[in-house]
Amino acid sequence: GLQVERLRERVHAVPDFPSPGILFRDITPLLADAGAFGLCIDALAAPWQGAGVEAVCGIESRGFIFGAALAQRLGVGFVPLRKPGKLPPPLVEVEYQLEYGHDRLQAREGALVDGARTLIVDDVLATGGTLTAAHELVTRLGARTVGAGVVIELDALGGRARWPEDIPLHALLHY
Ligand code: 5GP
Repeated sequence: GLQVERLRERVHAVPDFPSPGILFRDITPLLADAGAFGLCIDALAAPWQGAGVEAVCGIESRGFIFGAALAQRLGVGFVPLRKPGKLPPPLVEVEYQLEYGHDRLQAREGALVDGARTLIVDDVLATGGTLTAAHELVTRLGARTVGAGVVIELDALGGRARWPEDIPLHALLHY
């Protein structure tokens, strides 16, 4: 509806970033607009009201911004899932494939309570490698992924196909 259109107006398309041929979706105008940012957190929270979410995990780095605000809105704690070299040991980590090479996501050991009903948040779902790795990390931490929320899903990149079919994944905007 109108609210989604207001969010869409605050996502800017930047051609050829970070490399030629890539159309980058820039969410910083959305963050700078207090009303739009508030609507965005409302909309991310809506599917999870009453769902018994016990923790929110955000993916470095834009997932921290949306995830931390969402955790506060849901009244639960926030756990950062980070790129290598940022968190002190002891750590739990997963490695995942990129188009060229691989990357890793790490969290503090014991960061999530055993079996905690966990929601994973990021800004953009593209190929799905990052969000799926986050789910694997949550699982390795001993918690349970009850869902995922992203602001933007890039439909043509097929990320949803990599995400477990039986876990709800909500996106606010589709391109
Ligand atoms: P994937 O692993 O799904 O291919 O890529 C998703 C990750 O890359 C997310 O963490 C996201 O922040 C970043 N990403 C990929 N494409 C874009 C984009 O167009 N805009 C923004 N803001 N982030 C992107």
